[in-house]
Amino acid sequence: MIRVLVAGAAGRMGREVVKAVAGDENLQLAGAVDFNHLGQDAGTLAGVGELGVVVTRDLAQTIKDTQAQVVVDFTNPDAVLDNIKTILNSGAFPVVGTTGLDQKDLDEIDQLARAKGLGCLVAPNFAIGAILMMKFAAQAAKYMPHVEIIELHHDQKLDAPSGTALKTAEAIMKVRESFRQGHFNEFEKIPGSRGGDYEGMRIHSVRLPGYVAHQEVIFGGLGQSLVIRHDSISRESFMPGVVLACNKILDYKGVVYGLEHLIAE
Ligand code: NAP
Repeated sequence: MIRVLVAGAAGRMGREVVKAVAGDENLQLAGAVDFNHLGQDAGTLAGVGELGVVVTRDLAQTIKDTQAQVVVDFTNPDAVLDNIKTILNSGAFPVVGTTGLDQKDLDEIDQLARAKGLGCLVAPNFAIGAILMMKFAAQAAKYMPHVEIIELHHDQKLDAPSGTALKTAEAIMKVRESFRQGHFNEFEKIPGSRGGDYEGMRIHSVRLPGYVAHQEVIFGGLGQSLVIRHDSISRESFMPGVVLACNKILDYKGVVYGLEHLIAE
């Protein structure tokens, strides 16, 4: 059994992870860390009944006390980098769903993970359909390089654009040149109307109650358009990916950026 600790265990994603870990035959819920619901049973919070694991606050201490091997982090963009360092310095393997890390952060984590002989998965999206969307978008961009991304999330999301939108844009940039899209003389009557600019590609972020995580990648060509869309309609969509990552990350060293690398091998 792999001993798994969940950081952010009282949050929306964390509760789903607690449920998924408790339901997997190879995984054992070892600990639960959050700033909220301290002292409460993580299983009760997740709606699966008492699991005998209470929510604690101190990540390093809880990893030590529980001898967790893998720590799944779904906290928030301000906390995630420090958490990953704490996890690696405690000798555990991070599986990270929290978004907001940039390339500099990933390089720093990679160095630390390698120095410690540990693997660290960072996955902007754990849903298999979203991974396929990114792959198909990169294929389409070879033939239809004019593209804009619209990502839609619930209104409690802190960072914009989403990690998935950024990873999609990065994948597209591997197959097309950087170039300015739209009319050369276009101007914005309201600042931000054309969205964020990533190498000439526009990314638009919608935040509304009712949404979970959705994305459209829209391609335009002469007399035609192509839309690739993925919808996570519930947080369950991420759980097979999280469980797979917990089961596989022990075999890796350094940062693995994207769940697709665990699936392909
Ligand atoms: P959430 O409901 O706000 O849950 C986060 C929980 O973590 C909160 O209870 C928060 O407490 C707690 N927390 C904050 N800092 C912490 C720390 N240092 N140590 C322990 N707990 C801490 O957020 P969510 O909707 O679950 O989303 C969490 C993250 O996952 C976001 O970055 C989101 O974008 C990402 N996400 C990723 C995927 C994916 O597939 N990769 C899918 C969905 C969401 P406070 O409220 O007191 O801060």
